[in-house]
Amino acid sequence: MGGEDGDLRYFGVTIPLYIEDCYLREFDARVLRSGPGYVILDRSAFYPESGGQPSDTGILLNERQTLRVNKVVRRGGEVYHYVDGSLPPGVMVHGVLDWDRRYLNMRRHSGEHLLTGLFEKFGSGPKVYSDITRLEFQPSHLGLEALNHVEEEFRRIVEEDIPIRIYYAHRSEIDVCGDPRKMEFLEKIPRGVKMLRMVEIPGYSRTFCFGTHVRSTGEIGHLSKLELVVGKRNRKIILFDLETQTHKTG
Ligand SMILES: [Zn+2]
Repeated sequence: MGGEDGDLRYFGVTIPLYIEDCYLREFDARVLRSGPGYVILDRSAFYPESGGQPSDTGILLNERQTLRVNKVVRRGGEVYHYVDGSLPPGVMVHGVLDWDRRYLNMRRHSGEHLLTGLFEKFGSGPKVYSDITRLEFQPSHLGLEALNHVEEEFRRIVEEDIPIRIYYAHRSEIDVCGDPRKMEFLEKIPRGVKMLRMVEIPGYSRTFCFGTHVRSTGEIGHLSKLELVVGKRNRKIILFDLETQTHKTG
């Protein structure tokens, strides 16, 4: 995998190390700027909260101190690591992610890709909202029969352990099939960024995404919950979660 510089410039001053390697748990970085309770680094493996995926937590340390990272948020081109304490600009730090939390979020987020693809296949229509344990679709005929089909398919695809493909595609090649949510996401990405990161579960789901994903469907693991709820204005809401253990590990 690999991209053009445009992909990283999109993220501003902090190079997002998780884009090239979702399995990176530790890294070294320099403090660019800091203030009371926050630190901005030149590079980071911490995922900032975005697109319904919560931020990573962990620690930043050097020989003098260890700071807890409670939350990570992107504001403009900068990634704010909210910490208990402070670090002066220029110093080097070592970052360590709370891996269990990140790995579960990566599994859930990858599961969200697979579920979205399956529900669309079974007639949900486009998704209007999602986070790592919830999908919301526009009003449709989606019912319990489709829910059961999706559950069966999900189980089979997890057992098949299909590799999840990550690659780059030129934005002019991307077809959002009239999906208003994807169109809106695409429009938010600056025009200068030509190459977008694609995430594909071959045969089931393909979309551009800058989140974190596991290597294969086996790592997603099995569902512990899959429920259909009818929301406001007849929106179809799917609530899901995964078993905490998977037979494969990252
Ligand atoms: Zn994604």
